[in-house]
Amino acid sequence: PASGTSTLRIRAGSAGNNDQSTHFNIDRWVVNAIAAGVVFVSVSYSLFVGGVTFYDPNVNSTSRSPAIIMAAGVLALATILLKTQLSRPLVLVEACANCGKEPGDAVELKVCASCRLVKYCGVDCQRAHRKRHKGPCKKRTAELKEERLFTRGCQERPEEDFCPICTLPIPMPMDNHSGFYLCCMKRVCHGCVVATATRGTRFNVDCPFCRTPAPIMEVFISSSELAMVQKRVDSKDPEALRFLGDKYYFGRHGLEKDVPRAIELWSEAAELGSLEAHNRLAEFYLGDEIGVTADGVARNFSKAVRHWEEAAIRGHVESRHNLGVRECGEGNHERAVKHLLISAKMGDKSSLDVIKDMFVGGVASKDQYADALKGYQEAMEEMKSPERVEAKKRMKDMESWR
Ligand SMILES: [Zn+2]
Ligand SMILES: [Zn+2]
Ligand SMILES: [Zn+2]
Ligand SMILES: [Zn+2]
Repeated sequence: PASGTSTLRIRAGSAGNNDQSTHFNIDRWVVNAIAAGVVFVSVSYSLFVGGVTFYDPNVNSTSRSPAIIMAAGVLALATILLKTQLSRPLVLVEACANCGKEPGDAVELKVCASCRLVKYCGVDCQRAHRKRHKGPCKKRTAELKEERLFTRGCQERPEEDFCPICTLPIPMPMDNHSGFYLCCMKRVCHGCVVATATRGTRFNVDCPFCRTPAPIMEVFISSSELAMVQKRVDSKDPEALRFLGDKYYFGRHGLEKDVPRAIELWSEAAELGSLEAHNRLAEFYLGDEIGVTADGVARNFSKAVRHWEEAAIRGHVESRHNLGVRECGEGNHERAVKHLLISAKMGDKSSLDVIKDMFVGGVASKDQYADALKGYQEAMEEMKSPERVEAKKRMKDMESWR
């Protein structure tokens, strides 16, 4: 275990001590309180009692007074020294939370993966300690998740929400403002699709990012092109796995509908970092209007929420919005606003609309709505570019021809 000359070693996680953080907080508090008390009593005694006695000629204890002052002074000094000693960083001497064994040649401690609060020398000790550890473990695990769910980091759009050409975040819903190219698995904003087209390539023919002729866009994929996606699936590209999962889920492009296979692919994609896959899984576990999933079992709310949380932590806007709407439905309005503010500030109009409805309905404050509106407008401003304005104009023109 780590040790240093200026650190105080305290044995932690030994039997009977199953909540380290509380244990040490109390220790520090007690040390501080006692030190402050002793210093206060010593100093006041030496100043007032000692001083008065020393200078009072009517009291016959003058000979003892300097000794009292000195003793009190020494006590105060000693306490201050002890206090500085105790306030040095504490280094926990690691030990198994169940049996107290310290790590050595034959003993390797493993931390409790969910709370990271205690360590064990093995599964037997972990099992034996479970009953006592369950309470603090659950509490700390919930705290950790709550911290992860609302850190600044998860209030930023994820990397895949940025156009790889102009590097600006893509407005939402992203499908209306970008094309997803299967040749390179990149999502390119319409601004760049149009801008690259005006520079000589035909609109929507060459991939604006990797320049593959006849780009394979998700919406236009044919069965033969699916074989190319399969190659990326084999090399474990998360978005390719998610894409193939979609095709199995709906039974498209010559694939027979196979929900368990879709769930398998989405789960693998989610594990490899596809936020869309997390969102798909959440929606699957949520089931239909009557609460039945596509493979005919009852909905699983907690699984759905877990997938949304995992995606929201990594910045997935739709998942964050869904968490907010769900909290609102449960009547947890403060928490709902907390989620929806994040997604609104990422530029999600539907989240802003929900906060507005909540404000009108009296369950969100005017300040909260104003905050959301300001954040939303700032996000929208950030996503503007002349190319995108041009693309929007062209798309409108194309629509009016039809
Ligand atoms: Zn042990
Ligand atoms: Zn634990
Ligand atoms: Zn772009
Ligand atoms: Zn490409």
